[in-house]
Amino acid sequence: MIRKLAILGVGLIGGSFALALKRAGVVGQVVGYGRNRENLEVARSLGVLDVIMDTPGAAVAEADAICLSVPVGALPDLLTQIAPYLRDDALITDVGSTKQDVIFAARAALGDRIAQFVPGHPIAGAEDSGATAARPELFHGKSVILTPLAENRAETIARVSGWWQACGAAVTEMEAERHDRIFAAVSHLPHLAAFALVAELAERPEAALFFQHAGSGFRDFTRIAASHPEMWRDIALANQGALLDEIDRYQEALARLRQLLENGDSAALQALFERASTARRTLTTYLDRS
Ligand code: NAP
Repeated sequence: MIRKLAILGVGLIGGSFALALKRAGVVGQVVGYGRNRENLEVARSLGVLDVIMDTPGAAVAEADAICLSVPVGALPDLLTQIAPYLRDDALITDVGSTKQDVIFAARAALGDRIAQFVPGHPIAGAEDSGATAARPELFHGKSVILTPLAENRAETIARVSGWWQACGAAVTEMEAERHDRIFAAVSHLPHLAAFALVAELAERPEAALFFQHAGSGFRDFTRIAASHPEMWRDIALANQGALLDEIDRYQEALARLRQLLENGDSAALQALFERASTARRTLTTYLDRS
């Protein structure tokens, strides 16, 4: 049971975490801090929060559970601000989409208290953001990856894992470097590809005409281009190295495809499309769970 949960960054993910734990009946009080008072007032009116706090320090001072759910670029500063106010028995987790940068920032800010921090990443989300987007069932049946630290006690990891299980999620553990490499390929690159395509088309003089005629293929490929720009700026920069590698690979794949097209190589084009189509159909077993 959590006595007092502090949510720092009360948006889609942090708000949904609070609502899910409330629904599960495992949290006493939820306090929240954010940079935008209006969003916090909405969160309180929707029952996401019980109390709005004016500073990060005040939010964590009496909390036994803390969820950091701001864009990853804001975490170093936030961690520094909360560090002096943490209780000895407080456990901290985060929901950031990248892990190595977050762990680096946590080590720098928390020092001796690093064992109290268990990094996490829920594999659930949406293009919507803010407290109005929060919903208690967001993590139900979804996966949450924890990237525990060598300093974490088994009991600490188990407690954070229990919070996510109470939200209905299945928890797995992974090393942070591996996490960032995998998500560069299956999440961060697809988002950048969608942003790039939509931005390029939108700059054309006939953009409106083009979008007007776009069908379901375009809609499916570009849905994620409507995602939160600030959040994705931070993710891209935080996972820069792995993402640059994935962009290079993708550019090479497009260059190969372009060559086949230029050569009019029908057999090679069909073989490539068949490999991709078979892989995509096989993979839906996994995708249906996410
Ligand atoms: P969100 O809905 O925009 O919520 C983030 C909240 O944090 C907003 O209310 C924002 O304030 C607030 N905030 C931003 N900077 C802050 C700062 N410096 N101090 C205090 N509050 C601050 O975003 P989200 O989708 O919940 O994403 C939150 C985290 O979850 C990110 O780290 C992201 O990488 C991760 N994540 C997202 C998804 C997804 O699909 N969305 C999935 C998994 C993980 P404003 O109201 O002023 O914007």
